[in-house]
Amino acid sequence: MLLCSVRGCGQPLARTGGVYACPKKHSFDVARSGYLNLLQPQERRSKNPGDSAEAVAARRRLHDRGIAAPLFEAIRELTGATAADQVLDAGCGDGYYLGSLANATGCLAHGIDISIPAIDAAARRYPACEWIVANADRQIPYADATFSLVLSITARRNAPEFHRVLRPTGRLLVAIPAPEDLIELRGAERDRIESTVEAFQPQFRLLSQVRATTTADLDAASVQDILHSIYRPLQPHPPAAGRITFSLDLLLFQPVAAPRVQSPATSR
Ligand SMILES: [Zn+2]
Repeated sequence: MLLCSVRGCGQPLARTGGVYACPKKHSFDVARSGYLNLLQPQERRSKNPGDSAEAVAARRRLHDRGIAAPLFEAIRELTGATAADQVLDAGCGDGYYLGSLANATGCLAHGIDISIPAIDAAARRYPACEWIVANADRQIPYADATFSLVLSITARRNAPEFHRVLRPTGRLLVAIPAPEDLIELRGAERDRIESTVEAFQPQFRLLSQVRATTTADLDAASVQDILHSIYRPLQPHPPAAGRITFSLDLLLFQPVAAPRVQSPATSR
C-alpha cells in the first residue's frame, strides 16, 4: 500500500524486518521509534522542515491538558469512523487526532507529516498506527483508492491527491480554524468555509458541516504553548492568561467521480 518516494519510481514498498524496499531496490529504514521517513533530500526546503521540536512539544502539552478533547469528539462524530475504516491523516502533527481516533474506534490509522519531530512524537505515543514522514503537498505515498477516510485538520490541503487516495465511497474531513478560534489572542478572523469548499471543487462535494467550539481557562504557561504552536498573526497585546476559545469549522466532503468523456454522438 505504501509507495516508493524516489522521484519517478512510485513502486510498492514491501517491509522486511526494519527496512522497506521497492522492486528497484530503493530502501528506507524504519526509525527506532517506529516511523518511516520517505522524505527525499530535494523535498526539504530547509534542513528541518515543518514544525520544530519546540512547537511539537508545546502542542503535545496542550493536547495532554485535554483542551482539544471536545474538538476531537466533534470530528469523531461527524466522520462516524468505525473499526472498518482505513484512515489517513495528512498533516497529522503530533498525532493527537488520529491516535485518539484509532484508540476510540479501532480503525486502521496512517499519519503523514513533513516534520520529523512531529512524527517521532506521534510514533512514540501511538505505536499501533503507521507514521510516515513525507511531503503530502507534493505526493501522498499511498496507492490509489487506499483509504475510506482522509483527515486534513488545520493542515495544508492537496485536493487532487486526497481524491486519488480515497475510495469512491470514501469521505474527506477538512477542519479549518473558525472565525472565533483563539479570538482572545488574534482578534476575529474571516469565515473561510466558502473559499475552502470552492478550493475542493469540482473533485469534492460538501456533505455536511459543523462548527465545534470549546473554551479553556489557561495559565500563562499554556498561553505561551499556544503562541509557540501557531504561526498566525496575533493581537498587539495578547493576554498573558485567561479564558481562550478554540473553534474549528468541520467540513465533510464526498469525492465526485471524474466526468466521463462524452462521445461526439451524445455531446451537443
Ligand atoms: Zn523505488
